[in-house]
Amino acid sequence: MPSFSKFSRRDFMTSVAVAAGASVVPNILLAQDPVVDTTYKEGKPITHENVSWEVRPFPMKQVRLGKGPCTAAMEANRKYLHSLPPDRVLHTFRVNAGLSSSAQPLSGWEAPDCELRGHYAGGHYLSAVALMYASTGDEDLKKNGDLVVTELAKCQKSLNGGGYLSAFPAEFFDRLRNRERVWAPFYTIHKIMAGHLDMYLYTGNEQALETVEKMAGWVAGYTGPFSYDLMQRILGTEYGGMGETLANLYAVTGKPYYTHVAERFDKKWFFDPLAEHRDELKGLHVNTHIPQVIAAARLYEVTGDKRYRDIAEYFWDEVVSERSYCTGGTSNHESWNTDPGKLAHELSTNTTEDCCAYNMMKLTRHLFGWNPDARLMDYYERLMFNHRLGTINPEDGTMMYYLPLASGYWKTFGKPFDSLWCCTGTGSEEYAKLTDTIYFHDDDSLYVNLYIDSSLEWPEKGLRLKQETKFPEQQGTTISVTAKNPTQLGINLRVPYWAQGGSVKINGTTLPAFSSPSSYLALNRVWKTGDRIELSLPMGLHIDPMPDDHSLQAVMYGPLVLAGKFDAVSKEMLYGDYEPKPGDQTKVPEIVADASRPTAWVEPEGKQPLTFRGDGQSQELTLVPLYQIIDNRYAVYWKVNSKKA
Ligand SMILES: [Zn+2]
Repeated sequence: MPSFSKFSRRDFMTSVAVAAGASVVPNILLAQDPVVDTTYKEGKPITHENVSWEVRPFPMKQVRLGKGPCTAAMEANRKYLHSLPPDRVLHTFRVNAGLSSSAQPLSGWEAPDCELRGHYAGGHYLSAVALMYASTGDEDLKKNGDLVVTELAKCQKSLNGGGYLSAFPAEFFDRLRNRERVWAPFYTIHKIMAGHLDMYLYTGNEQALETVEKMAGWVAGYTGPFSYDLMQRILGTEYGGMGETLANLYAVTGKPYYTHVAERFDKKWFFDPLAEHRDELKGLHVNTHIPQVIAAARLYEVTGDKRYRDIAEYFWDEVVSERSYCTGGTSNHESWNTDPGKLAHELSTNTTEDCCAYNMMKLTRHLFGWNPDARLMDYYERLMFNHRLGTINPEDGTMMYYLPLASGYWKTFGKPFDSLWCCTGTGSEEYAKLTDTIYFHDDDSLYVNLYIDSSLEWPEKGLRLKQETKFPEQQGTTISVTAKNPTQLGINLRVPYWAQGGSVKINGTTLPAFSSPSSYLALNRVWKTGDRIELSLPMGLHIDPMPDDHSLQAVMYGPLVLAGKFDAVSKEMLYGDYEPKPGDQTKVPEIVADASRPTAWVEPEGKQPLTFRGDGQSQELTLVPLYQIIDNRYAVYWKVNSKKA
């Protein structure tokens, strides 16, 4: 955090803790994704944007997950969302608005004395409930969301009638303007606005749209009188994705005013070098800045200004190729601390904040929408299977904050009602929207991006697809088609970067051709009911070395980062009462490997799928996918001493 540079955000949380319904059917039917630019009024599409996506996701309600690790993560999240009583969610908002509340306050970052209070309760919570409704049709969660929207509207009215809505007093914004110490008021306002917009988009709650428009009016009024220079100084304090949500509000309402307000949140000193393709990311707080790039992506779509696209594409390339670990995660102690490509000395207990993965995946969807390059979905899959799966506790839906990549440490999870970090919030959203990227489409083709057991309804084409797979335990997938009428369509299957060959059968017959890694294999034909595609994607072991020290290596199997599995940790260690610190790690042996066959020291264990063992090492080693490790110490990066064959 720029204004609290001494503390990581998690440390700040600790020190604070020590110190202290009426939804109506919308008259506009929405395409159910704020990045999809088309709304429908009386059956006719309306678009307010300059740039349409070349390929688009399906409304989430048309995609349903089947069995598998994604569903397990989603269900853990759903259970957690159900465990949050609306009265507790509303407490600090009601108190701040002078309304009575006898509910037990939430704690952690939602504690009544935490300066970020409201970010989860009035923000991420509503987004998560809305997304979960879109993914599952869970009416009870929708009802809770509707209730929170109704009650927050009362708070907004009680506050001053001018549109301000928060769980902290507007005085925080005086401090922000005066450049006095305050945590991140706009960060929180962004979450609350996005939560309301999501309730409108995914559940049709019109009151939520009214609330967020009033909030936007307040934001416009607050920022309007500032000089450009003062506004730029204010942008020195983390402000989430204000620009993104305001641009989304324009896309929904068609009021150009919101785009002008969105552009007030363009941070010049951050955008200028990116537009000129210079990596000046060293020293920046990571999760402060990714949302600003998502806003740039969104502003490209609504304004057509190519500079915004340049910013987003250059940033993505640089972060993915120069500043990401084998899991796809980025950041160490929440920041980029080095020049590009220098990661070997950036392994710690505090690597790869979860929010960064969430936001990079969100940004990736925009880039893919503009240009459906398989490389983008390769990266999305890398994060999904190595960083998003395995960072939610399957027992209770609690989330992690950092995914430690220093060897010998362990995972820690927040407490259900007493953590509520940024990563709890983005996690609550992530595991509610696992349906949003599996399939994309254009007018005459379908993109199968991810191999996840699921089904898709495509009513415009009279098509239903069922994808059955145990991926990643299974090295491929099967897709079967139900079609009202025989339908001409391209079905594009992603052949991942890791595929070691592969093949595809249609109705039992192997096609003579296949596609190269990191591309889409296009199957163009007339599809009819009963057609069946069997895709085989052989996985193999491969090495992912540190860019600046090739003796520091992670082992991967297909898309999966393998982790050495060591001793189990206690419940106390798992739930963050005791955070891992340097020196707490178990001793991880150095590896001896043949330089010409760097994966030869790893071999299948034989009985369990995706389980491997070390061969010829100083101690017995078991390796499993990182996502499967919950309560064991682990090692992802190994120090490898090469021997000559
Ligand atoms: Zn976070």
